[in-house]
Amino acid sequence: MEFRTGIGYDLHRFTKGRMLVLGGVPIEHDRGLLGHSDGDIVLHALCDALLGAAALGDIGELFPDTDPTHKNADSRRFVTRVLERIRSAGWRVGNVDLIIHAETPKLTPYKDRIRQTIADLLDIPISAVGLKATTNEGLDAIGRGEAMACWATALLEAAGAADGRPQTGTV
Ligand code: MG
Repeated sequence: MEFRTGIGYDLHRFTKGRMLVLGGVPIEHDRGLLGHSDGDIVLHALCDALLGAAALGDIGELFPDTDPTHKNADSRRFVTRVLERIRSAGWRVGNVDLIIHAETPKLTPYKDRIRQTIADLLDIPISAVGLKATTNEGLDAIGRGEAMACWATALLEAAGAADGRPQTGTV
């Protein structure tokens, strides 16, 4: 069995007048994240971890913020399209793991819904979706509550080919 790991990161600024969406789940908060799409840092970091594991480029190349069709886009759409690319390159998702960095809001009540949403999007069990949240102890822009960030890792397993080796992926 052949494996690949990937890493992804995203940060967006908070802004008033936008809904906060993390991992495809609306979160109650007085501000949302500024972005061309819905600003969902969790799904953006996840996309980059998946793309990175398959060496298929990054989310900015696939879904450029200069493209008006991505304005206010639901980022679940990006994950679905990334998954299609992963699969057509001969990979399947083993597990993913995420860390959200945020001073507020408290995410504990939302964690399992975010995990389930990601599990459904990737067609993997919820036990294969790790999610942690941590503050930045009041330090830097995240600590001051001006921004929120997310790290993601993904493990891909070779799928499809009889000898267990994936086809060579191309962007
Ligand atoms: Mg982003």
